[in-house]
Amino acid sequence: MSTSERVPHPDLAALGLPEEAALSKLASQLYGMPPAGSSWNKTDEVAAPFYFQDYASLEKGGIHAPGQLSAAPQLAAVAPPAGFDVELVRRDFPILSERVNGRPLIWLDNAATTQKPRAVIERLAKFYEHENSNIHRAAHELAARATDAYEEAREKSRAFLNAGSPNEIVFVRGATEAINLVAQSWGRQHIQAGDEIIVSHLEHHANIVPWKHLADEKGAVLKVIPVDDDGQILLEQYANLLGPKTKLVSFTQVSNALGTVTPAQQMVAMAHAAGALVLVDGAQSVSHMKVDVQALNADWFVFSGHKVFGPTGIGVLYGKEELLNATQPWQGGGNMIEDVTFERIRYQKAPNKFEAGTGNIADAVGLGAALDYVNRIGMHNIAAYEHYLLSYATRLMKEVPGLRQIGTAPDKASVLSFVLAGYETEEVGKALNKEGVAVRSGHHCAQPILRRFGLEATVRPSLAFYNTCGEIDTLVSVLHRLRSARPIKVV
Ligand code: PMP
Repeated sequence: MSTSERVPHPDLAALGLPEEAALSKLASQLYGMPPAGSSWNKTDEVAAPFYFQDYASLEKGGIHAPGQLSAAPQLAAVAPPAGFDVELVRRDFPILSERVNGRPLIWLDNAATTQKPRAVIERLAKFYEHENSNIHRAAHELAARATDAYEEAREKSRAFLNAGSPNEIVFVRGATEAINLVAQSWGRQHIQAGDEIIVSHLEHHANIVPWKHLADEKGAVLKVIPVDDDGQILLEQYANLLGPKTKLVSFTQVSNALGTVTPAQQMVAMAHAAGALVLVDGAQSVSHMKVDVQALNADWFVFSGHKVFGPTGIGVLYGKEELLNATQPWQGGGNMIEDVTFERIRYQKAPNKFEAGTGNIADAVGLGAALDYVNRIGMHNIAAYEHYLLSYATRLMKEVPGLRQIGTAPDKASVLSFVLAGYETEEVGKALNKEGVAVRSGHHCAQPILRRFGLEATVRPSLAFYNTCGEIDTLVSVLHRLRSARPIKVV
């Protein structure tokens, strides 16, 4: 999309000014405003003129005329993939036509959950209108339809991850439940006093709490891989943590708080070399990059359907087939048994062994539709377009005075965490909401990594392939407006 096609923020449109990127650049040139990350002191506030007015006065003075700024071409350093039409894609998502506070909805909370394409919504309706039944148990037509749809979704999940067999795909509620399942089944079976479990500093609470519970229960030790100041894993220190006592390593492929893409394949290999098993948390990766569990070679891989354009309440635990079959079940009940007497129980093999009770049949089918949809768009297109958007947004946000980006690893996906000097993160979130922009502000269920950066909270815009440069422009223009309302200078 060319810059001229972008829809300017309404405030800018009213002023008849060029795009925010140019304005932001101009502001930093004219005011000599320092780069992001400088230290600011709110008590040293200076009465800088209102940002947009200032541009207007300069314009009158003939220093710059609208349209003469050279910022736009420089911003297009990375090109969007040819043939990817974001406007066409957006039409598939009914909720993106929603208005919030009188403004078009700008959904930049994709790391929390993604919006659903019509294909998923209609697939759910079709299931309830034509197929609804419990699965596996009855001889009637609807049971056959529902079972086929559910097992097709399992096969789609297998193909999506390139797992070797559908038996390696266990449907669960989401990433959280998948990790708890492994901790409570394999973990209880194998972790003993004195054993070591390694997680990274980047982890979501979902990949800390279940291991901490297990370690406390068993007298095992939880160790943490540190990260550098950009938020990337320190591999040497990781290597030093690995040893004969390491039984399990569990880490994320993409950090939900910083966006860091970890060197997952290398980390898995290092853990295996030390004799440990590995769980990779794919909650934030599967919607942004192609995942191949055979190449990754993790023993378990988990993700949530709702973060990959599917329904809530459904997710996947991938586990190597032999390992799943050798692991004790987690919950007991119907569906997972082969034979029951009061004296002894024989379980089915994986995956049924881990799917006790009536599962979330319809949403599994919906997840299958979401994965079909993602495949139609093409993961390579998604990754390339998001990379372009992330570069575009990162560059614009750097130009907001007093904005500190949190998470600056060279390899990042989707997440643009930041704090704005002089503002609580919640204030920024509310100001953005007024303009229809949905972002998360808070600790993102990843308190340890935020504290590593001396923070309790950040504002976290997070991208998906239906976001546009115009939406980023709106986000950044609000940040500039906030900055202008509370000007500050460097100390
Ligand atoms: N891991 C990561 C990295 C996440 O971002 C999340 C969700 N924010 C989870 C695990 C947990 O996912 P869910 O709440 O869908 O179970």
